[in-house]
Amino acid sequence: MTAPPRSPLRPAHLEGLDRYEPGLSLEQAARESGLREVVKLASNENPLGPSPRALEAVRSTLVRIHRYPDGPATALRAALAGSLGVAPSQVVIGNGSTDLIDLFARAFLGPEDNAVISEGAFARFGQVVRARNGRARLVPMRDRTHDLEAMRAAVDARTRLVYVANPNNPTGTWNRRGEVAALLAGLPPEVLVVLDEAYFEYGDDPDYPDGVAWVREGRPVAVLRTFSKVHGLAGLRVGYAAAAAEVVEAVDIVREPFNSNVLGQAAALAALEDGAHVRRTVELNRSERDRVARGLRERGLLVWPSLANFLFVDVQRDAAAVYRDLVGQGVIVRPLRAYGFPTALRISIGLPEENARLLTALDAALAPAPRR
Ligand code: PLP
Repeated sequence: MTAPPRSPLRPAHLEGLDRYEPGLSLEQAARESGLREVVKLASNENPLGPSPRALEAVRSTLVRIHRYPDGPATALRAALAGSLGVAPSQVVIGNGSTDLIDLFARAFLGPEDNAVISEGAFARFGQVVRARNGRARLVPMRDRTHDLEAMRAAVDARTRLVYVANPNNPTGTWNRRGEVAALLAGLPPEVLVVLDEAYFEYGDDPDYPDGVAWVREGRPVAVLRTFSKVHGLAGLRVGYAAAAAEVVEAVDIVREPFNSNVLGQAAALAALEDGAHVRRTVELNRSERDRVARGLRERGLLVWPSLANFLFVDVQRDAAAVYRDLVGQGVIVRPLRAYGFPTALRISIGLPEENARLLTALDAALAPAPRR
């Protein structure tokens, strides 16, 4: 059979590029498994949900959704600036932090410029750069961790951005303060590090750095954070970046003027004031992450240390088959073949009962076929 002719409307420069594949939704998994009770441990969400204060803010803001949002998100930027110790002119809001990952590529990469990215890093980095101009310089990982020394060595005269996720998704691994500081100190002045700290609040290693401290010092770094993880607002799409004012100005030029919405801005403002909800979330994650990691290791699986709300698990066999078996039992996790890890799963930390259900389902999925 001959292949159908390629449509002239298909952009040639996007040929062969992947789109981002999100985890299965609860509805999709319920349909596939035929089960009504499905557990989703696939997208690193907050299993406790949002702060009650954020919910109340959304309810009381609903009557205003016929109005455009405040485009620059003035109140939210001011509140974030206050809590981060930077000026409001150093903060920009995104429609989730994925929006900002894209905005930095659009703002800083000219047609011939490139971005240095680690293999095995959060997939969106490579996708936005490849779609922008195809010039992603990929650097192998070391021990499933960003190799910052090799990334610095990969910087050339056309490099404008270095993307680093700390901790990284999907590996959960992180770079220590000294390593990141050495990267920042070793770059030419025209290179900006986009330091994605989507899981910052979960970071409980004393050597895990707070990237915003470098923003305050005027170092060449833009720190990305999000309300999707610890604040439990993934569905409302609010992320932010802190950087030098001139960096924020450049992002503002390419930013869609109403990229964050009325409800998201209100919920994020309220969430910021609920420190107790953040602490509860972090404590639950810490104890359950330890418990799940122990349970997985007891089953003979390899579990990487994680500073985030998920675990990278090498099941030492085809992970896609284990994944499908789990979906059939109503448990959704994330297979990582697309990241180049065909024997690995990424498992988000859920509520104690959800994690217990995962471990039970894994026992069945890993059991030798004849015994099932
Ligand atoms: N950056 C990293 C490293 C992530 O793991 C994620 C989400 O999984 C994001 C960014 C996206 O978050 P947001 O919901 O803010 O777009």
